Amino acid sequence: MQKYHLLINGQQKRSAGESFFPAFDPTKGEQVHLITQSTPDDVNNAVAAAKRAAAAWGQLRPLFRGRAMHAIAQLIRTNKAHLSSIESLNTGKTKGAADREMDIAAEYFEFFGNLTSQRGGELIDIGDGYHCFNQHEPYGVVGIITPWNLPLNQFARSAAAALAAGNTVVVKPSEHTSASTVELVTLIFQADIVAPGVINVVTGDGKTGSALVGHPDVAKVSFTGSVQTGKSVGALCAGSVKPVTLELGGKSPNIVLADADLDRAVQGCIKGFVSNAGQVCIAGSRIFVHTSIYDAFQEKLTEALSRLDQSRESWAPIITRQQYQKVLNFIAAGEKENLPLVYRSDASLVPQQGWFVPRVVFAVTDEDNCISSNEIFGSVAVLRKFESLQECIALANNTNFGLAAGVWGRDISSIHQLVSRIEAGQIFVNDYFAGGVENPLGGYKESGIGKEKGIQAYLNYQRSKNVVIALDPAQ
Ligand code: NAD
Repeated sequence: MQKYHLLINGQQKRSAGESFFPAFDPTKGEQVHLITQSTPDDVNNAVAAAKRAAAAWGQLRPLFRGRAMHAIAQLIRTNKAHLSSIESLNTGKTKGAADREMDIAAEYFEFFGNLTSQRGGELIDIGDGYHCFNQHEPYGVVGIITPWNLPLNQFARSAAAALAAGNTVVVKPSEHTSASTVELVTLIFQADIVAPGVINVVTGDGKTGSALVGHPDVAKVSFTGSVQTGKSVGALCAGSVKPVTLELGGKSPNIVLADADLDRAVQGCIKGFVSNAGQVCIAGSRIFVHTSIYDAFQEKLTEALSRLDQSRESWAPIITRQQYQKVLNFIAAGEKENLPLVYRSDASLVPQQGWFVPRVVFAVTDEDNCISSNEIFGSVAVLRKFESLQECIALANNTNFGLAAGVWGRDISSIHQLVSRIEAGQIFVNDYFAGGVENPLGGYKESGIGKEKGIQAYLNYQRSKNVVIALDPAQ
């Protein structure tokens, strides 16, 4: 069985602790890899290597940093089949889905590579006699912690932005899905694209993550994961006033207005909560439908879900055993609360081996139940009627989350009112999940702080220094 070690200062390192934990193939529930549990010394060594490499990388001509980013993108494309097969094995994603995620990972390096030599700072006019400007500088060492739902993709999302902005990085991937990150960074060093220490990987559980976040030489943290862990990461950062980007969970509304194209809205709402078996932070798991079209929508939704269930290719497993159990527990709790079932996949169509869960939609009339209020992170949604735009806005905002929202309809006035009054960091109108590496993502409320993706993420990985030079009036 393949063992994955640490990557520190450009080299594969065995941890002195010699302790490993298993990673699984969720389509079978079988162990496939062994992942190193880092010790605190490993984290110290990785941060020290990143710190040694920081000055040279941060001062490199930005055009050359961009060139390295493009070389990494090319490397991902050249090794797509290999990286994609590792990701598939460890997450159960189909080849098509894993291939797409490799393409997106490459696009992150291309996009941020293109920005390196274009965003140097700004000139500020404060009047005659002064030269005033802002210069953008890297932080130094950035600690990056990623979750298990889109492993290599989320590594690329944060690391490409941090590196392009001139930082060196120490990455801690999820303990459940570390293999693809270790593999890509190994390839980067074999291809000699960046100097040793520019990218380091420490594998391990939350203790490793916490040691990284709390390390005094880590100047900025990027955390993607659950609200609960995000709060403890944020609290640890607050202790040393360390800047932190928190990309956390969601319970996003998908709103279908009376004049929506029903077939399109049904397909979009299904995609919103079923993609990747619902293991998507911006999943649209609360579907609100105008009362005038509710019955027609419900009929089309159940028809389309039963057609989808027939396709073996459409099923993705839940990636971890704990999460699988959690989703099943939520479904059981919803049934115990006697929430009316709009849809539940026929048991005979749910793949029996591995960690697959049925697609479930409950009808609700209030938010006072376990399904409406919690992020389930599985293919479970609630369906609810609304009468007026005001009611719909109130429903959409009646949550501590604020990551994303979807709106389906044609009336421009209603769409604009929803767009401006829904408290969420990203809104999709008539195309859920639209966009790519270019458009920024980041939550309102408990869904997070700061942005990943887009130019905003690049700027998030730099600090800005204002300089005022008084010009000599005698000259
Ligand atoms: P998680 O919070 O359990 O773990 C995330 C990462 O944090 C893992 O690498 C884990 O080892 C590490 N960790 C755990 N305890 C830690 C601690 N005390 N200090 C530092 N690191 C620690 O989340 P998960 O279950 O891996 O991922 C699912 C969650 O991630 C969902 O809530 C989902 O919505 C969220 N997510 C958000 C986004 C986004 O962009 N907003 C994207 C993907 C996933």
